[in-house]
Amino acid sequence: MDLGITGKWALVCAASKGLGKGCAQALARDGVNLVITARGDDVLQATAAELRLLNPAVQVIAVAGDITTAEGRAAALAACPQVDILINNAGGPPPGDFRDWDREAWIKALDANMLTPIEMIKAVVDGMAERGFGRIVNITSAAVKAPIDILGLSNGARSGLTGFVAGLARQPRLASRNVTINGLLPGPFDTDRLRGTMVGAAQKTGQPIEALLDARRKLNPTQRFGTADEFGAACAFLCSVHAGYMTGQNILLDGGAYSGTF
Ligand code: NAP
Repeated sequence: MDLGITGKWALVCAASKGLGKGCAQALARDGVNLVITARGDDVLQATAAELRLLNPAVQVIAVAGDITTAEGRAAALAACPQVDILINNAGGPPPGDFRDWDREAWIKALDANMLTPIEMIKAVVDGMAERGFGRIVNITSAAVKAPIDILGLSNGARSGLTGFVAGLARQPRLASRNVTINGLLPGPFDTDRLRGTMVGAAQKTGQPIEALLDARRKLNPTQRFGTADEFGAACAFLCSVHAGYMTGQNILLDGGAYSGTF
């Protein structure tokens, strides 16, 4: 399917690895020019080079920086000639027990997973509306629909973002101007983040990591983890010209793990 977005510019935050990279790859395949960000410059530059190989027709600009800081956001935005597509993403907060989290821990989580995407949306959304095209995808988590006890910081911050976006996406001044804002909610995807949490669990329980990964896969109806490619393909569809009537939605990509009819 031709997604109809060849030649557009996308700013994909936190895209040197994992789900953000999957989104950047899918958009590059469809001819979208890219600004990608991450904190670590080496991996980011390697990813930019991969994307240029994937589709030599697209421009790829890599901006190293922390997207949760004002400077990181300003640098990313300044590098993008025009943000037609914005993919909001950042690392997730650490797991733990809420009794151990002080105000600073909460502010950090809210900054990364709620206030940063809101700031990014604020910076680009009115320009999108003026031009009559805009696609914003917030990478959140399946925990928005089915909270995970030990991920309280994530449950809280991402639900705040989701609630805010539910109102914003329905503003006629955006929706009637072909600007959509949707959430993509990943369940378990095979990325460094997932493996990192499993390393922690392996150290705690003394079980081999492969056994823990296997057990986790078997909990999913598909008996496997999702891939960044699958995630990217869904993201690219949401960014396409065909998805203009779909806004304010929260789409679970979890292999059917959420056990609800609706
Ligand atoms: P990942 O494989 O660890 O990749 C994270 C990417 O984000 C890397 O490129 C990383 O590069 C970049 N990044 C992290 N913090 C950043 C920051 N402050 N500024 C700029 N770039 C930053 O993680 P992932 O699995 O793709 O996860 C992406 C998001 O989805 C996370 O919020 C995660 O919590 C959420 N999620 C993932 C899963 C899953 O199963 N994978 C499930 C639910 C939710 P640098 O480290 O170099 O900055």
